[in-house]
Amino acid sequence: MLSIDMFDRITAKGKCPNCTCSFNAIEATPAFPVVGSSNQKIILEFALCPECYKEFAKGSEKQQKIFIKNSIDNIVINPNNEWTVTNHLAIAANSGSFFNAWQYGSGIPKPIFDLINQGVIDDVVVLPSFIGRF
Ligand SMILES: [Zn+2]
Repeated sequence: MLSIDMFDRITAKGKCPNCTCSFNAIEATPAFPVVGSSNQKIILEFALCPECYKEFAKGSEKQQKIFIKNSIDNIVINPNNEWTVTNHLAIAANSGSFFNAWQYGSGIPKPIFDLINQGVIDDVVVLPSFIGRF
């Protein structure tokens, strides 16, 4: 029989965007936000595996920039992986939980999400109807 604990372990595998290791995403620690580009409003939130987070947290500003560049490069090279990356809308919709945001997303329909990202719709107008849905 499949226990809830086993189910969690099966579904919670994520990939660290820095070292690309596969790990239990429940242990992912949000490390840094990244804005896609100057004309995009969605802020991506990157979480690292426990080992990388430890190194990141004690690293100098220069070392942290290397983590950020490396993480972005890995995602650009392979965008279809289960990277432990989500966005600020999903985190808000999941009451601040990175893990739930990563698993369930924002619940905001793609066309509306795109309009928020383009700055056509303000996220504070849309978000209240999605916060706490999960
Ligand atoms: Zn890592």
